[in-house]
Amino acid sequence: MEYQDTKSVWPYIIPAGIVFVALGGFLIYAFMQLSVLTEQTRSLAIESTELASTTTALLRNTDQLAKNLKDLRSETLGLSDTLSSAQQNISAVKTQVGGVEQTVGSISGAVGTLQKLSQIDQELLKKYSKFYFLNENYAPTYLIDIPADYIYSTTIPEQFLTEAWPFLKNLFDTAKVDGVELYVKSAYRSFAEQQSLKSLYSVVYGVGTANSFSADQGYSEHQLGTTLDFITSGLGGQVTGFDGTQAYQWLLANAYRFGFELSYPTGNDYYAFEPWHWRFVGVKLATYLHNKNLNFYDADQREIDAYLVNIFD
Ligand SMILES: [Zn+2]
Repeated sequence: MEYQDTKSVWPYIIPAGIVFVALGGFLIYAFMQLSVLTEQTRSLAIESTELASTTTALLRNTDQLAKNLKDLRSETLGLSDTLSSAQQNISAVKTQVGGVEQTVGSISGAVGTLQKLSQIDQELLKKYSKFYFLNENYAPTYLIDIPADYIYSTTIPEQFLTEAWPFLKNLFDTAKVDGVELYVKSAYRSFAEQQSLKSLYSVVYGVGTANSFSADQGYSEHQLGTTLDFITSGLGGQVTGFDGTQAYQWLLANAYRFGFELSYPTGNDYYAFEPWHWRFVGVKLATYLHNKNLNFYDADQREIDAYLVNIFD
């Protein structure tokens, strides 16, 4: 029985051992798993704490960012105001620059006029009479030889102020087209030539008579280079009787258009009537005198001087 009992226990020992070992193994495994889980839980808790503090920090940063954004907005608004006023300033400066440019423009215009005026001979519009006469040393800057076709004499050369010549040439050419014969009898004369001519006149006509039509000062207009005596055919080469010619009537009606005026018209207070003696004063002044029916020598000198700058226009 005992043997039977003993014999009957043995078959259970090995499975029991196996179960025991398995259980032990499982317990060890379970313990290890628990330990791992505990460790994981602990690190999750740490991570969770860290996450919480990170979140807090992020929330703080978000607040700060919102504040910064607000500040930035007000700064932008301020900058926009500044920009706007800067633009206004620029606009105002531009307006001022525009004004300055206009001023500079009108100053340079005035300087241009002065420069132009400085290049024009101041004597060209001065009155030469019994009281005002041209300096004996005066000579025009540039003289041109008048082409022979325009001169009455075939032997005596004549000269005219270079800048005034195109106006005289135009007068001659227009007269010719109108069927009027006109020639230069005498144009530029130097002071010396004038003196010898005066002496000749004094000898031929007597001093008294010579003075009435050939006073030095009066004839000194020829010394300017802008004055000439006209002549036409049918007078035997003399100027006497010129006032009765078609040529004289044509000059009275048209010479102003080319800038010429009759210095000593009939009834003037300065010298004897000289219908052949014409002086270039510029188209603008000659037109003004013609329209006003005013003699050059009766016009105010200051009024005349205002036309000097445009004398060759
Ligand atoms: Zn003359």
